[in-house]
Amino acid sequence: MIDKQKIIVIGNGMVGHHFLQNLVESKQAESFDITVLCEEPRAAYDRVQLTSYFTKGADELSLVSEGFFEQHNIHLKLNCQASTIDRADKSVITLDGERFAYDKLVLATGSTAFVPPVPGHDREHCHVYRTIEDLEAIKQSAQGSKVGVVIGGGLLGLEAAKALHELGLDTHVVEFADRLMAVQLDDAGGALLKAKIEKLGVTVHTGKNTQNILDGETCVHRMEFGDGSVLETDLIVFGAGIRPQDSLARACKLELGPNGGVKVNNLCQTSDPAIYAMGECAAWNGKVFGLVAPGYLMAKAAAQSITQSGYSQFKGSHTSTKLKLLGVDVATIGDSHGRVAGAISYSYFDGDRGVYKKIVLSSDKTRVIGAVLVGDASDYDNLLNMALTRAVLPAQPEALILPTIGEVKPVNPAAALANNAKVCGCHDVSKATIVRAVQDGAKSLADVKTVTMASTGCGGCTNMVSNILELELATKKVAPIKKVFDPATVDDSVKICFCHKVSKGEIAQAVKSGAGDLDEVKAATKAATGCGGCKVKVNKIVEYELGNLATHAVTEKTKVDIASNDRVCFCHMVSKGEICESVQAGAQDLAAVKGATKASTGCGGCTDRVVEIMEAELEKVPEAT
Ligand SMILES: Cc1cc2nc3c(=O)[nH]c(=O)nc-3n(C[C@H](O)[C@H](O)[C@H](O)COP(=O)(O)OP(=O)(O)OC[C@H]3O[C@@H](n4cnc5c(N)ncnc54)[C@H](O)[C@@H]3O)c2cc1C
Repeated sequence: MIDKQKIIVIGNGMVGHHFLQNLVESKQAESFDITVLCEEPRAAYDRVQLTSYFTKGADELSLVSEGFFEQHNIHLKLNCQASTIDRADKSVITLDGERFAYDKLVLATGSTAFVPPVPGHDREHCHVYRTIEDLEAIKQSAQGSKVGVVIGGGLLGLEAAKALHELGLDTHVVEFADRLMAVQLDDAGGALLKAKIEKLGVTVHTGKNTQNILDGETCVHRMEFGDGSVLETDLIVFGAGIRPQDSLARACKLELGPNGGVKVNNLCQTSDPAIYAMGECAAWNGKVFGLVAPGYLMAKAAAQSITQSGYSQFKGSHTSTKLKLLGVDVATIGDSHGRVAGAISYSYFDGDRGVYKKIVLSSDKTRVIGAVLVGDASDYDNLLNMALTRAVLPAQPEALILPTIGEVKPVNPAAALANNAKVCGCHDVSKATIVRAVQDGAKSLADVKTVTMASTGCGGCTNMVSNILELELATKKVAPIKKVFDPATVDDSVKICFCHKVSKGEIAQAVKSGAGDLDEVKAATKAATGCGGCKVKVNKIVEYELGNLATHAVTEKTKVDIASNDRVCFCHMVSKGEICESVQAGAQDLAAVKGATKASTGCGGCTDRVVEIMEAELEKVPEAT
């Protein structure tokens, strides 16, 4: 028997998990023995959406599909912190003293929250904002508190302020610079963002240098600032930036970037070729990227390098972003401050709607090189595309941000987008790929997501993906089916009843076990017995499943009669044999078969047939094992 190559992954955050997903997709996946050391008590979750933990809960934030680790024989060690890398012995030692040998080691350790070394920073009720456990601790502190302060007025600080505001605290943001989002926004953008946030009831203090945190008189803490002013608060959250978590690499003498982070090449290999690094702990070309899209590109490059299954390389990434901060749309592109020599900028301010837009052009006025959008970021996709593709500008470039007045028809940004323009930075999906998916039968955003993965990362491209979908459907003269609930297109794992947490699969199972109508399903599953908001959907699933059972009986013979090499899914050319193989390899539901074979992820016309074949094959599995 050939020994499998041992891969140890340290960190199961967003990027570490994306790496695993890329790894197991490769045909060589079987030849690896993979172990993941995860310091947190739970597997990967969507950190970008961390603030919605209070409304959604941990399960909804999870990035791990059901049975992922078991299905791919990945050993996941939770609550397991790697403490030493022994490069001479090619092994990793954990805090508990366990030793894991590796052939290839992957560092995906992310960042740590930066806490300024202000006296009193470590007092009780002082927190950081990085993990679900941090949010739980903040929630505990908030009980019995009235006032909350966030130190830091950047992306992280404003996310934390949203959480404190939603917890009902009198919320303050304290920022050292003289404006919010100082790195990305100019003075006018920062001032408008401040005004909009203050309108929501959050007080913003700019130009404040926190010098001391001590016992308060009216609250738990008293914050003293450099200008002599003070602020009393019950809890403090530090949202003042991040630092790459490179301590393991530092200790084992891997090369680091000039500002920290583990130095990597285009394949995300460190100075030791057996060790890779990716995501927020890695420094490429001296630069550490604090966004998820570059991390995903790094994960892909490293997975292809390790499995020798492709030629992906990480060659940098733009750091333009579109965000919703406390409900305010904010976007920045490239040289938003116009620092490039000779840069020319145009700006537009709508005091009535609270909208500020600025574009920065190259000195010869031929290219967009930067932009700031506050209050309305609908031009973001178009401007980003123009900046990335170095598109030729119209004669009056200011028209790109001015509102359309009179009869002038606005340009559809999806139509203006070049075919090869990248739409989804997280999953490297171009406009052409989305167009092809629609031409191959995708009719809804969910279809496009399943087939291309576009808009399943940070979500920043969702508008543009929808625009392209609708434009392409209009060209094909097919109506989008966005709003129609079609049980056939919904995965079994999707929650239908939120009051009683019942999934589509559980409703389907109740029907298969004998429930013959909505009332019987209600009794069996509790679905639709809470607020009742899901009743229509539950009923549709019941009707759909009852229909399936009837069709099933009729087609019982047909499905057995299909030859193994007969094609079932014509969109992705998948045969009956391949579906059966996926079941024999462990796929136990439609979602897993889709994932393994791509069958039924195109137009969906074959879904019933795929389910029939899958179910027939599932019946054989016990005999085969
Ligand atoms: C509140 C918030 C909002 C954000 N919003 C956006 C946004 O809008 N857009 C965007 O692009 N990005 C955003 N980000 C950034 C994004 O979440 C990160 O870029 C992304 O999570 C990086 O992934 P990663 O895997 O490199 O690191 P992480 O997701 O941090 O994962 C690293 C993991 O490694 C573990 N680990 C570290 N050391 C060890 C060890 N020694 N042993 C075992 N495990 C270890 C950590 O516990 C962690 O679980 C946001 C981040 C936060 C916190």
